[in-house]
Amino acid sequence: MHNAPPRRNRYLTLKAAARYIRNMTEKRKFLGVHFKCCNVYARAYMNKEKNAYQGSCPRCGKRVDMQIGSGGTDNRFFSAQ
Ligand SMILES: [Zn+2]
Repeated sequence: MHNAPPRRNRYLTLKAAARYIRNMTEKRKFLGVHFKCCNVYARAYMNKEKNAYQGSCPRCGKRVDMQIGSGGTDNRFFSAQ
């Protein structure tokens, strides 16, 4: 049985990807952060201006800010020094 490769519609694929990413960011407005100071994991949540993720170490209270967008991080995971 010969299976032809599926014909992809690049435009639709990009639209679906954009919608998927938007859903992800709507539902998960936080990053997982590894705090190296105490070797613990915590979440950093998006601030109300939606331009940075902010979190603090659950053990020592060290604060971290991760800018979103140009020059910032778009990773889903972040390691704080
Ligand atoms: Zn700490």
